[in-house]
Amino acid sequence: MNTKQPMSLTGRVILGMVTGILTGFFIQSFLADVSFVHEYLVNGLFEVGGQIFISSLQMLVVPLIFVSLVCGTSSLQDITTLGRMGGKTLGFYLVTTAVAITLALTMGTLFQPGAGADLTAAASFQSAEAPSLGQVIINMFPKNPIASMAQGNTLQIIVFAILFGIAISAAGEAGKRIANVFSDLNEVIMKLVALLMNIAPFGVFFLMAKLFSGLGLGAIWSLGGYFLVLTGTLLLHGFVTYGVLLKGLTGLNPVIFLRKMEDAIMFAFSTASSNATIPVTLETVKNRLGVKNRVASFTVPLGATVNMDGTAIMQGVATAFIAQAFNIDLTMGDYLAVILTATLASVGTAGVPGVGLIMLAMVLNQVGLPLEGIALIMGVDRLLDMIRTAVNITGDSAASVIVANSEGALDKERFNDPLAGEKEEEVHFVPAEENK
Ligand code: ASP
Repeated sequence: MNTKQPMSLTGRVILGMVTGILTGFFIQSFLADVSFVHEYLVNGLFEVGGQIFISSLQMLVVPLIFVSLVCGTSSLQDITTLGRMGGKTLGFYLVTTAVAITLALTMGTLFQPGAGADLTAAASFQSAEAPSLGQVIINMFPKNPIASMAQGNTLQIIVFAILFGIAISAAGEAGKRIANVFSDLNEVIMKLVALLMNIAPFGVFFLMAKLFSGLGLGAIWSLGGYFLVLTGTLLLHGFVTYGVLLKGLTGLNPVIFLRKMEDAIMFAFSTASSNATIPVTLETVKNRLGVKNRVASFTVPLGATVNMDGTAIMQGVATAFIAQAFNIDLTMGDYLAVILTATLASVGTAGVPGVGLIMLAMVLNQVGLPLEGIALIMGVDRLLDMIRTAVNITGDSAASVIVANSEGALDKERFNDPLAGEKEEEVHFVPAEENK
């Protein structure tokens, strides 16, 4: 009998990540001039493996959001629950984003990372206009749900799925039959998520090895102050703000919460995309943290688009940094404009890599700071993007637990059980007839 315990998925993903980072550094330090390595490994195997991994995660996002949210909405006993839950979730997201950016502006002003910085911008940057609130709301409503799905427009898919779910619960017997189909589909898609999570150690290895073999760390030294203040604020928000909110509003232990977030945090870190991480965040929130599908299927995809606390923090620190580097004083009104624009910009933008910089351009425009400032910080943005994406999805998950707790939709036993969710991550290939 084999008594050896297999390594947990988290352990394997950590292993993939660490070996990937080390491999990347090794290539950068010792094999930088070997064209064979770059051609066949870095831009060959690592690039192909990493991109396939990200595409497979993205492949799940649209069907997963649609199916799980239709299931969640159609199982609600009472439609008014939806309005209450929606109000709480949006309120929570807006308040935490505003807290995040205020914290960032305070830290940026206190530690003055850009003071005395003698930096010259190497490139220019084009900005888009910040969307108006009206436009953000209009854009949430789909004209054509198939087009919304084809474009992966999360907010529009959410609106359509909610309406579809409501119609199912109002459609009597026919609705029940369709609800059963969706419930079965949901099981199957969650198995697909588990399947992909099991190949993640390789995917994460490829992504990290590719990234770190070309990541210029020199820029971090010259922007050390910015890097440190931003990372410190991100960690402060990730550990303290969410920890206090979780403890204060639910009485649950924040350490258990963070430990269970490990997998999702690593996925967010390696993909730098809240959107691509949705399948893993949803799996973690439901199976490990014990949030019922009717809450998680709504809060997680909504959060991935609307709630980006880490990104908001970057915008706060970056604005302070750029203002200091260019010797421009910001007024109280400017600070308020930064908070409002950053919050609004984060609502209408999907969580994909690097989008924070585009939002930053809108913020800088709003307060009249030079867009060249963005070129200053671009060199270190990739690594910071990875960290802030991890904070973004931690915020979505904390909100899911808090809202679920207030709605009686949290399985506290599951939350406190260290092994919860491990069974769901297993994938066995059993022929259909034996699987009954
Ligand atoms: N990459 C971030 C996310 O997906 C967004 C950003 O800050 O660029 O959440």
